[in-house]
Amino acid sequence: MKSKKDIANERIRLLVDKGVSEKNPRYVELARKIGMKTRVSMPKDLKFKFCKKCGTPFSADTHRVRINSKKNIVVYECLKCGHKTRFPYVREKHL
Ligand SMILES: [Zn+2]
Repeated sequence: MKSKKDIANERIRLLVDKGVSEKNPRYVELARKIGMKTRVSMPKDLKFKFCKKCGTPFSADTHRVRINSKKNIVVYECLKCGHKTRFPYVREKHL
């Protein structure tokens, strides 16, 4: 049987996916609310899909992407709210 958390997780995933494909921050907002209500945290892989501050899904026309190869980070600058989200990136190793 599925627990409440499993159901919440599923819903969050569906909403974020929908928000990303439709570029609509509303779905992301809804997903966050469900997370808060049910005390389910956002799955790690979904955190890389939208702006933390305003919920705008990452895409080429809403965000500026910069790569800082010295520090090995990728910076997504949200063009809507100006928030900068930094992600560490791991260089693929070809040996
Ligand atoms: Zn933003």
